[in-house]
Amino acid sequence: MILVEEALKIIADNIMQSASTGMVHLAEALGRTLAKDAVSDVDIPPFNRVTMDGYAVISPDGPGEYEVVEYVPAGAFPQIALTRGKVSKVMTGAPLPEGADGVIQVEKTGGYVDVGQKAKINASAKQWTNVARRGEDVAKGDTVLKSGAVIGFAQMAALAAVGADPVEVRGLPSVAVLATGDELVAPSVKPGPGQIRNSNTYSLCAQVKGLGITPVILGIAKDNEEDLAAKAAKGREHDFLLISGGVSEGDRDFVPKVLERAGYKILVHHVRVRPGKPMLFAVADGPRYAFGLPGNPVSTAVIFELFIKGALRRFSGAPALPAPMIKAVLDKEFKRKNAEREEYVPVSLAWEGERLAARRISYHGSGHFHALSGANGLIKIPIGVSEVAAGSNVDARFFDL
Ligand code: AMP
Ligand code: MG
Repeated sequence: MILVEEALKIIADNIMQSASTGMVHLAEALGRTLAKDAVSDVDIPPFNRVTMDGYAVISPDGPGEYEVVEYVPAGAFPQIALTRGKVSKVMTGAPLPEGADGVIQVEKTGGYVDVGQKAKINASAKQWTNVARRGEDVAKGDTVLKSGAVIGFAQMAALAAVGADPVEVRGLPSVAVLATGDELVAPSVKPGPGQIRNSNTYSLCAQVKGLGITPVILGIAKDNEEDLAAKAAKGREHDFLLISGGVSEGDRDFVPKVLERAGYKILVHHVRVRPGKPMLFAVADGPRYAFGLPGNPVSTAVIFELFIKGALRRFSGAPALPAPMIKAVLDKEFKRKNAEREEYVPVSLAWEGERLAARRISYHGSGHFHALSGANGLIKIPIGVSEVAAGSNVDARFFDL
């Protein structure tokens, strides 16, 4: 059985970045991956910009009474170049008049007066006080974001400022989600004897949507080869097929066999991880990718976090780094009998004034779907570790990274 890192490497080595790109409105680009460097077509600021309401001055003039020659609000462009002994009334966001080299904020003057009157200046300005110089943030021709950057709120601002609307982004994968199990019924149905509600389709779709991808729901396949093969064939039309359940050793776990018959080659099956050991990764021509996720709801969710999130990002050209781990302090002792697998335990991570606490929550195994709703992350227990004392440092990760 291979290690988590080995499985991650096999997945990373086999997922090809999609060549497809498209133009989207900037407002719709959240979460997408930039397909081209974003280069500024302007200096930012585009002019020497006033950053305080006040008077534009010539700094050597110093305190005194000076004639106001012009009024320049934001959005106007100054028409009069300042000469010694004159000032202009300026507002935040306005271009600094020619000749001026600083701004005295209005609080340090006798207040605003009209054009033609004398303003009382009570302070002296150092050069460029209260002025953002032209091009000081970005010069025309500067690259503000590299191709491959994932667009979040900060990148949105940068793209807007350099005029990247519409913006060229990488294609998203098409993702199909299939549940398997004779016992499964839809959430709207009251389960009969021996039945349970299908929850994995919904958690998986939510995780996929969290990456900005709208998945295609293929429903529930019965635990027989014919039905599973028919639904897997539909899934084969998509870049990624995510199948929950049916991937272990039970006599009705047909997923590996059916995927092979559908043309997939299984590259990973069984990883030294808990929960989710039987997880599977396969590739078919196209290339098309399939993941088999063990059906227990916590296994399905954790395997998505550990392996599939990065794979979907990699397809879109985003750096598929492992999610950042952070140190947290465990609140209660953790013990286990079998330390042969790397284990991920759902916890509630919370800042406690000066440290990040990993608070254990009631969790009794991978079928305990409800535990996840009280968790916002996972802690990692390495292979070989069977006990972690309360107060120890542990590696942790948030779900939404
Ligand atoms: P399997 O991986 O098919 O052996 O399933 C393992 C456990 O997860 C069984 O108890 C299943 O009933 C349960 N399970 C499988 N698929 C789902 C699903 N879509 N929603 C909720 N539970 C599931
Ligand atoms: Mg099953």
